[in-house]
Amino acid sequence: MEPDHNLFHLWNNCNACGMSPIFGKRYECVTCPLGPDSDLCGACHEKVMQGELKHPPPDNRLASDAGGEAHRFRCYEGTPTGEAEPWFHVPHAMLAAPNIADGFVVRPEFCSGFESTFAGYGFVVKAPGFETPLLLTALHVMDEMIKKKGIDMSGGNGAYTGRELPAVLTGVNLYNVYAANWMIASLGEAGPMLVLPEANLDAPEPLSDGDIAAFRVANPQGLAPAELAPGPPRVGQPIWLAACKGNGATQRAIKAVVVKQDERSLVFRYAENKLPPFTSGAPLIDAQGRVVGINVGGGDYREQRFGHANHVANIRRHLAQAC
Ligand SMILES: [Zn+2]
Ligand SMILES: [Zn+2]
Repeated sequence: MEPDHNLFHLWNNCNACGMSPIFGKRYECVTCPLGPDSDLCGACHEKVMQGELKHPPPDNRLASDAGGEAHRFRCYEGTPTGEAEPWFHVPHAMLAAPNIADGFVVRPEFCSGFESTFAGYGFVVKAPGFETPLLLTALHVMDEMIKKKGIDMSGGNGAYTGRELPAVLTGVNLYNVYAANWMIASLGEAGPMLVLPEANLDAPEPLSDGDIAAFRVANPQGLAPAELAPGPPRVGQPIWLAACKGNGATQRAIKAVVVKQDERSLVFRYAENKLPPFTSGAPLIDAQGRVVGINVGGGDYREQRFGHANHVANIRRHLAQAC
């Protein structure tokens, strides 16, 4: 069975055969936590259905125990590969990266009672209407905990109020991502989590306008909150992913250029191909160091690296609804 090479899923790899990106149909496991292990290509999904391939793979420690039941899959058809053609032709600007201060980008450890999980990145901002800084990250970095607690954060769940996850998350420990040994470089704590009634998880990438989580910062000493940009960046504008590349933070900003921007999505092409792993929740910033988005996903296509983010107009909308 040959996949249709005119339809693809730029942001997803097959966790069984490694097809990247996935061409043709994509099957996303809705039982497993969201992430690189939750997608299969059409051929591998067929093998799972025939019993020729095991899902979840036995070495996947994050895979949900569905109580002995088979995992459920949702099928996506894909988008035409031609839509990405213009994305290759937007030029990179010749601009130096903005300065990134210690205490802006963090490694969060999410705690629920005695359980805790390290997941992705977070960052600290000054937000309109809030007296203390806020920690922002992508909601999906907590998906393992969300699934474990049995919370349904899909956009289709009409009963969802936004209070379900804040009720079980007891706090967030913050660590300095740029320290030589970040696990012992505490930057304090955040919490409680804000109630964002319209945050949700299951929109197909790159529609990432619901993928946000926010926390009040309890003790902002040692932190360097950044400003939010007034609006989302335009196509052609240079932006940078603020993350930690190389041990000891030899590089703090990875250059990109915006290739698509609309109400629900912000897509960019990186100026380099080798990126640090697990940067979901890291900030995208403009040339002035202001936050333009929350990093949500990435993918490789024709030897270029792309990313997508939840942009600042949506960050502002969610924070204005916060309670
Ligand atoms: Zn496959
Ligand atoms: Zn699964």
